Amino acid sequence: MNNFIDLHIHSTASDGTKSAQNILNQALEKKLKYISLTDHESTEGYKELLLIKEKWQEDLMIIPGVELHTYYQGKEIHLLGYFINTIDDSFEHELKKLRKARTEVSYYTVEKINKSGINLNWQMIENKFNTDVAITKGHIIKTIRENDLQLTQEDFYNFFNTKGTDYIPFRLNPLENAIEFIRENGGIPVLAHPALIGDDYLVEQIIAKYRIGIEVFYHYFGDKAKEWIENYKTIAKRYNILMTGGSDYHGSITQVELGDTFVPQDIIDNLIKVKYK
Ligand SMILES: [Zn+2]
Ligand SMILES: [Zn+2]
Repeated sequence: MNNFIDLHIHSTASDGTKSAQNILNQALEKKLKYISLTDHESTEGYKELLLIKEKWQEDLMIIPGVELHTYYQGKEIHLLGYFINTIDDSFEHELKKLRKARTEVSYYTVEKINKSGINLNWQMIENKFNTDVAITKGHIIKTIRENDLQLTQEDFYNFFNTKGTDYIPFRLNPLENAIEFIRENGGIPVLAHPALIGDDYLVEQIIAKYRIGIEVFYHYFGDKAKEWIENYKTIAKRYNILMTGGSDYHGSITQVELGDTFVPQDIIDNLIKVKYK
C-alpha cells in the first residue's frame, strides 16, 4: 500500500523528537503529498516551514494544524484543528498561554516525582528541552529514561495515567471552548483518536452535539485497530461528518513512522472541500 497522506504529526515544536525541517525532508523523501503538523498547542513548526516554502510547495501540501488538550465531562479529550490561520495574533497569543499552562502542570508533576524520592528535577527538563513548547508527560518520561531513573510500573501509572493517584489533570481548556477557539480562527475542529477515549457513548455525544470531524484512520496499536477504524468510519457516516487520518508520528518515541497510516485520497478531497466551500 502506498501512503501519501499523513495529517497527524508532532515535531520538536511539541513532544516529537524530530524538527519540522527533518519531517519535511522525510516527507519529500517518502513522496508524501499531503501532511499536517499538529503540534500540541503550537503552530511554530509550520511557521518554520513556511519560511522555506520554495523547497516544498510544488511537491507537497502542508496543512497548518494543531492539537489541543481539552476536557469534557471529566475526560481528557484531544482536539485537532486543520487549516489554522497562523497569522491570527489572538489565536497565537492564546496558544502561548495554553503552552505555558501545560508546562506548569508538568512542573508540578516533576515536583511530585521529586518529592517521592526520585532524583528528577525541573533543571533536567530545562537542560534538555526548549521550554517555550508545551512540556508534557512525554518530555518528562523521556528525561526519566535518558537519566536511567528507576521508576516502577506503579509509579508510572500513578504519575502519568489519567486515573493515577498523583496525576495532575490539565483543566484549563474545556472542549467546547477549544472547538469555538478553532472555529473562530477559521480552522476545522476534529476529534482525535476516538478509541483512546475509551467511551463510544461519549464520542457520539460529542460529535452529535458539536458536529466536529473525527479522526478515523489512526495508527492504533494492538489487534483491535482494524475493528476500531471500521467502527468510527460507520459512526462518521451515520452522522455525516468529516473523517481525517494520520500516524500521530512523534519521531523516535513510538514505533510509528511518518506516513505509516493508510489514509484514503477522498479524506483530503473532503477536507479541502470543507475548507473552501
Ligand atoms: Zn493526541
Ligand atoms: Zn497527536
